[in-house]
Amino acid sequence: MTIHPADRGVRDFQPNSHTTTDSGQPVPHDEFSAQVGPQGPQPIHDFHLIEKLAHFNRENVPERLPHAKGSGAFGEFETTEDISDITCAGLFQKGVKTPMLARFSTVAGEKGSPDTWRDPRGFALKFYTEEGNYDMVGNNTPIFFIRDAMKFPDFIHSQRRKNASGLRNHAMQWDFWTLSPESTHQVTWLMGDRGIPKTWRHMDGFGSHTYQFINAAGVRHWVKFHFKTNQGIDFLTQAEADKLAGENADYHRQDLFESIKNGDFPSWDLHVQVMPVDEADGYKYNPFDLTKTWSQKDYPLRKVGTMTLNRNPQNHHAQIEQAAFAPTNIVKGIGFSPDKMLLGRVFAYPDIQRYRIGANYQQVPVNRPLSPVNSYSKEGAMQYEYPHPAQAEYHPNSLGGPTADASKAFDIGAWDTKGSDIHRGDVSPHAEDTDSVQASILYREVLDDAARERLAANIAGHVSAIDPSETELLDRVYAYWAAVDQGLCEAVKAGVEASPRGNHTLQE
Ligand code: NDP
Repeated sequence: MTIHPADRGVRDFQPNSHTTTDSGQPVPHDEFSAQVGPQGPQPIHDFHLIEKLAHFNRENVPERLPHAKGSGAFGEFETTEDISDITCAGLFQKGVKTPMLARFSTVAGEKGSPDTWRDPRGFALKFYTEEGNYDMVGNNTPIFFIRDAMKFPDFIHSQRRKNASGLRNHAMQWDFWTLSPESTHQVTWLMGDRGIPKTWRHMDGFGSHTYQFINAAGVRHWVKFHFKTNQGIDFLTQAEADKLAGENADYHRQDLFESIKNGDFPSWDLHVQVMPVDEADGYKYNPFDLTKTWSQKDYPLRKVGTMTLNRNPQNHHAQIEQAAFAPTNIVKGIGFSPDKMLLGRVFAYPDIQRYRIGANYQQVPVNRPLSPVNSYSKEGAMQYEYPHPAQAEYHPNSLGGPTADASKAFDIGAWDTKGSDIHRGDVSPHAEDTDSVQASILYREVLDDAARERLAANIAGHVSAIDPSETELLDRVYAYWAAVDQGLCEAVKAGVEASPRGNHTLQE
């Protein structure tokens, strides 16, 4: 029987054992360091004290940037439907159960920041499949603020802290958003009810990017992933979230841990939207623009299976902090798409894990695949797995070392590049693509009156932190919302003018 990845790495519990150093020597005392005479100095060869202090100094790894604050749990994904007509991925064949890990997070806040700040939530999944690890590094929103990875560092800088004051600053957030109008749909979503989920259990998850499914005959479809919560969607109002942020910064982490501990296992049903490849060019929205959804009226949800989280981590640092997710980890039957944010993330995610955890981060038990690893990667910090000494460390070799086998390799997704010139440019708009079109649909056709009122109040509350002297910025903010809906713009303006004005400026 395969050991669940959640159980790898744990030392045996030894009740009443004696304390040792990290190298296994019994230590003479847990509380007293050695000293010379009753008042003398401490000898440097008290290696137990030195190790204790030195290891303590190294307990942290760099926190994620972004998505620093989060937590997660292990579980299982079961494919309950036959979708073999669209993908040959082993984990998505009917009846297959795959052990998995989920990590939920906020985006901009630091490691100790409150769970209930308004922010998108990360929804990162790792499936330990027989064919290698498959990671889906999604969010609780089906869209994003930008659609080109070139803008990602700038976007995150605008959400973090000012260089001089070290404070977060709503003026710079709105400066970036209004100068990046492709953000309109995501900001509408963020300021709406779903911008602060009641708990991680009460939110949906989305792959967000467009991916490719490839079936056994090599036929391709474009797909979007939707994890629909079985706990029901629920949210916190701004006032509830503000109160909780002061009372319990770990509100969402605690909720997930305690639910699972109490046997109340949260679950999500995975559905996909499926677009035949030859429909992409003619679709009213560019299907590879991460700021847009595909209408579910055009591409209805098709159920795949259910993910259930049923095991808490046994060690937060080892199993959650060191968990490394990357959209680079795909498996047979799933491929990439021309979504420029996705292609940027395929580079950036493994890169930050190499920096944050180390070159051999995939050897850490929580990240190690179930399937055999036969790469020629060599050495680096913290290497603790190694090839058999009889195996060559280079290729080609005459020693029978691993050799790529095209028949076993898989298709990572191919598409029509529409030309071969290298150029820079935005995602090409389709017939109905404007930056605000789907924000307008969300506002006018999806939200009810009460949700619209809360949206306007949330936006006004956020904008009113801007100092009234920033007139040019405030005008841009109103124009941004007028493009979504004139009535929304007026409600926001009235709300800002009625509420206490803040002092956030672009300079401080
Ligand atoms: P549909 O009427 O078929 O779907 C509406 C979608 O909106 C549902 O997924 C619904 O989720 C979701 N929704 C409901 N309330 C909110 C809210 N307060 N904040 C965010 N989403 C909410 O319409 P379309 O598929 O044609 O999409 C219309 C608009 O809905 C889009 O422009 C987009 O803004 C939004 N949307 C679209 C999604 C998609 O993938 N097509 C996904 C989510 C939102 P639920 O069923 O859980 O209530």
